[in-house]
Amino acid sequence: MTNQTIDIIEQSLRQLFNEPDFLPELKQEARDKAFSSISAILSTPNHIHRSYLRIVLDTNVVVRIPAFRIQHNNTLGPYKGGIRFHETVNEEEIINMAALMTLKNALHDVPFGGGKGGVVINPRDYSDKELNLICKKYVQYFNDILGPDKDIPAPDVGTGQREMDWMTGEYKNINPGKPYLGSFTGKSVINGGSLGRREATGKGVYFTLRYLLHNFLNENQELLASSKQTFSKSVFSQINQPQTLAIQGFGNVGSVVALEAYRCEYLQNKVVAVSDRNVTLYNPEGLDIPSLAEYANNNYKELPKEQEELDKAGIKANILNREEILSLDVDVLVLAALENQIREDNVEEVKARIIVEGANAPVSGEADQVLTEKGGIIIPDILANAGGVIVSYIEWLQGRETQFLSEKEVYERLFNKMEQTMKAIYPSFFGNGKSLRQFCYAHAVRRISTILYTQGKLY
Ligand code: GLU
Repeated sequence: MTNQTIDIIEQSLRQLFNEPDFLPELKQEARDKAFSSISAILSTPNHIHRSYLRIVLDTNVVVRIPAFRIQHNNTLGPYKGGIRFHETVNEEEIINMAALMTLKNALHDVPFGGGKGGVVINPRDYSDKELNLICKKYVQYFNDILGPDKDIPAPDVGTGQREMDWMTGEYKNINPGKPYLGSFTGKSVINGGSLGRREATGKGVYFTLRYLLHNFLNENQELLASSKQTFSKSVFSQINQPQTLAIQGFGNVGSVVALEAYRCEYLQNKVVAVSDRNVTLYNPEGLDIPSLAEYANNNYKELPKEQEELDKAGIKANILNREEILSLDVDVLVLAALENQIREDNVEEVKARIIVEGANAPVSGEADQVLTEKGGIIIPDILANAGGVIVSYIEWLQGRETQFLSEKEVYERLFNKMEQTMKAIYPSFFGNGKSLRQFCYAHAVRRISTILYTQGKLY
């Protein structure tokens, strides 16, 4: 795992072990041992599975594609996490992502552990037939370690409903007679998926922002006034005010956040910028998000990148470079692309004082510290983007019971769960001076540590 992830786990553990109500019965020596045991357990994955998928391309050429499934920790339940198709996938990245899943599930009290998969391809370079073969081979190669009670994959960057349907179909073929609805989540509804799963991550991301600015901060003015944390004035001035938003990434997460913000009438948010792998589109008066979403839907999920395309679609926007999204003068920046976007070398350019991590790990540890010291608030990945895995859990439950919920019921359960987590975290966060990320990690490791301790696994 990268030092950064290990560092933040260690910091959070230290914070946890300083809390007097955490395992008060343990004497100092036993506490020290428990600390180092938990740190060892969480800073390494339980299993690393890797293979090369042998694929016959449409041209009849055989290629061997590296593929991974990392099982980080299963203290809370079966391993759970997406499968990423991207050309930059590597083992270390997937290990880190698997660890984040462990913490994300623990934070929100979802009874799953953490896992993550990856295949080193750019899916745009392959035909549908080839992608179908890659999905089937992935299931064949990792069949022994997958299953509804062992390890349950889901979509991630580069995969979606179609891939989960293909994989579920293959799992069903290889394991006749076994329950298969809970083997993969993020399936299409007709194949046993949940209503609302596709939009769940984006809806959850926006919910965390809405909850923080318009419920929590508003209802807790006194707590804020007494807080040791010196939040930037711009954070306070945003309570109940219309905010400007910039959203990096216009895929499954970013486009849903943009639509949610655009449609949320009582908040009067203005989405002034969105970006994707090619461009940033900027309009200080606010962008026409529904038209952009429709354009992307019809154009291989890409935003218009030429003035001519914008004019044809009747959309008013200035075309900027892709990276410029990060430095715009906006109130809120939502990061919904890939990891490591705001780092030590570009953090000074960031003007937004509220940052929401729709992607996993888009802000580096150093950058997080700089932004926090400046009085910003970063709603971290394991808090903000858990909507996907929470609805995955709801999908898994529905598959087990073969009883299906309405979309309204799914979102009610999703928002309730996220609200419960925020209610447990925010009061102590605002009374302290540390980053919100540290609080979330500490909350997550508290749950895992307590289970490890009470199950006698620290001896
Ligand atoms: N890939 C998503 C994540 O990073 C969803 C995982 C899941 O539903 O298991 O949270």
